[in-house]
Amino acid sequence: MAPSAPALTDSERQALAGRLHEVQARLEAACSDASLAQPPLLLAVSKGQPAAAIRAAYALGQRDFGENYVQELVEKAEALRDLSELRFHVIGHLQRNKVKHVAPHAQAVHSVDSLLLLAELDRRMAGREVAPERRAFGNDARLPVFVEVSIAGEAQKGGCDPAELGALLDAADSASSVRLVGLMCVPPLDAEPEQSRKYFDALRRLRDEHGGVARLPELSMGMTQDFEHAIRAGSTVVRVGTAIFGPRPPRAGAA
Ligand SMILES: *Cc1c(COP(=O)(O)O)cnc(C)c1O
Repeated sequence: MAPSAPALTDSERQALAGRLHEVQARLEAACSDASLAQPPLLLAVSKGQPAAAIRAAYALGQRDFGENYVQELVEKAEALRDLSELRFHVIGHLQRNKVKHVAPHAQAVHSVDSLLLLAELDRRMAGREVAPERRAFGNDARLPVFVEVSIAGEAQKGGCDPAELGALLDAADSASSVRLVGLMCVPPLDAEPEQSRKYFDALRRLRDEHGGVARLPELSMGMTQDFEHAIRAGSTVVRVGTAIFGPRPPRAGAA
């Protein structure tokens, strides 16, 4: 990504506005179907998209953005420093040795899946100052974290084993610079949207077994193809990329 990436053209901006409004309408329809008073947070997943696309979405009122890759997040956060209410959420697998790089720029981490990662986040977030308008999930300067659960038991993917969840949650509760807000999952990517529903229900049941809404108010689940199913299952944060920004350019070096 070039530091002085050009702004979107008028027609790109209009297409983005159209897609964002369509997602907002889908979200509202799903909420009224489920009789939800409080709509879930819409996290716009901007991985692979240029900073200019984030700037354009921000101008349309979008404030929360999800990124998967540390280097990309850092570059974008620096290019978009002037957007004072912008919040970046880390949603991809996070390596412990990268935590120090994201610490100044991340306003939430959805992918905590080990005690060691949690401890490193707690260490690197100590003493960090966060302007009130950048705080996600309530006005609290501590970093909001989600524990990611490997809900389908796919060993190669991120997320902790459900059997390890209790220990991770206890550790998160006793951390001082991070605060536990909820659970996150990514169902198998080849699942049909309707099949995702059973994984979403499984995550909600885990929440109920581990302290319920009082301890774990947020459930981060649902993407472009299945977020309506996630909302019906109790999602409070949907992570939507393609439906907002269009197809992602292929990732350099990706397998
Ligand atoms: C890429 C990604 C998304 C968004 O996916 P879309 O299908 O483009 O909406 C959501 N969550 C995670 C963890 C992702 O990696």
